[in-house]
Amino acid sequence: MPERNLHPPAASSFLGSVNRMFDRAAAAVGLDPGLAAVMKHCRAVYQVRFPVRIRSQYQVFVGWRAVHSEHRLPTKGGIRYAPVVDQDEVEALAALMSYKCAVVDVPFGGSKGGLCLDPAQYTADELEAITRAFTRELARRQFVSPSINVPAPDVGTGPREMAWMADEYRRLYPDDINALACVTGKPATQSGIRGRVEATGRGVQYGLREFFRHPEDAARAGLGGTLAGKRVVVQGLGNVGYHAANFLSEEDGAKVIGVIERDGAVFDPAGLDVEALAEHRRATGGLRGFPVRFDPDGAAALEVECDILIPAALENQITAANAGRIRAKLIAEAANGPVTFEADEVLRSRGVVVIPDFYLNAGGVTVSYFEWIKNLSHIRFGRMDRRIHELRADRTVAAIEAAVGRPLPPELTAGLRAGADELDVIRSGLDDTMRRAYQEVRDEWHGGRSGDLRTAAYAVAIRKISRSYQEMGV
Ligand code: NAD
Repeated sequence: MPERNLHPPAASSFLGSVNRMFDRAAAAVGLDPGLAAVMKHCRAVYQVRFPVRIRSQYQVFVGWRAVHSEHRLPTKGGIRYAPVVDQDEVEALAALMSYKCAVVDVPFGGSKGGLCLDPAQYTADELEAITRAFTRELARRQFVSPSINVPAPDVGTGPREMAWMADEYRRLYPDDINALACVTGKPATQSGIRGRVEATGRGVQYGLREFFRHPEDAARAGLGGTLAGKRVVVQGLGNVGYHAANFLSEEDGAKVIGVIERDGAVFDPAGLDVEALAEHRRATGGLRGFPVRFDPDGAAALEVECDILIPAALENQITAANAGRIRAKLIAEAANGPVTFEADEVLRSRGVVVIPDFYLNAGGVTVSYFEWIKNLSHIRFGRMDRRIHELRADRTVAAIEAAVGRPLPPELTAGLRAGADELDVIRSGLDDTMRRAYQEVRDEWHGGRSGDLRTAAYAVAIRKISRSYQEMGV
């Protein structure tokens, strides 16, 4: 790795934004300043430099793992591989993880990790060697452990990297029966769980559906009805953005009129074929050349008029510089930290409703929680009781048919008879989580002194974490 990447620029407003949003909510709930100081900052940040032999030469890699809160253990949060990662960013993301877990009642503390590297510059074998070395560094100081700190995928990492981490950890601790619970987001065939890859996008869909179930909330954004026909612009067609866009268009009838990627944006007022666009991007590496209108100025595309803008790329995309020009009625934050504090203030004053990141993208950590439980229990969901439910349903159908004296139509009984498999259980748990959390946040929004959804979500998280600290000791 070139030396310049070992010292990425440290200054970023991401952590500052998260902290100022926290301060705004702490004031709204009247949080004790001492407790606020305890809660706001990371408890521990571990910086690591380690060598890996790549193409006959040693390269030194630099990474971080930050632990924000330990009021619940294990702490939880993704690991990011990107050319520019720094401590500020990792700390901000770790803080968001604490608030995220609290708001959706996932019993974890917050953590996050990052490694400075551009995955595109390395072969799969090299990435495996780097990931295994990083895992060893983290494990030796308990920054990865099934009971203390459990990483997951984030930008630049996915099931493959998680499988390498889990395998490396198991080699280090072969007598730990729960070793595979040391990371989540593993492939379903390697002790992962079905539905984890798309979980964050699925959670965005469930969160948006719940928002539109409350007409008075949608009305605050100047919207009504359901997601059907809503004009959506998505920034970032990666894991989160692709799945969210695909589910919203395929299952809810939303019109994805614009998609923004690194090389520019594509538009179709009739609604883009998200699957075909993703396929085009896989084949060509970008959006250019897809047979619709293309604009190389991706940043300008954020300002296109639409009903729902879904930033699903990276932090700091909507800033004081462009917030005044955003023409979306609703901003659904699928990425972490896409709106800076200053931009948030501008959007608030303009009446643009923002569904905040640490609520809306909590689907990933929620399903990670299910995966962790599955790993600890060593059994997949549905294995013990699926056939019992099917048997009971068969008996119920038989009893009804005996009572009415004729067979029920098969299209009616098919749905009744099928027992829930793992994916059904996961989706049900995720849907319930996203709905309940939204209802709690909106109660705070309408009834408290929060003023907007983000501050309300912070208020809910702050209350839960502070209660925990007060009851168990700081
Ligand atoms: P990803 O790497 O799969 O996707 C990010 C996409 O954004 C990529 O396609 C990239 O090309 C694009 N992108 C980057 N910069 C851009 C720019 N300036 N303009 C337009 N597009 C740009 O990552 P992901 O896992 O989908 O994560 C996206 C965001 O969601 C991040 O903020 C991440 O922290 C957050 N998040 C991810 C998960 C998860 O489960 N993966 C969970 C919660 C939150």
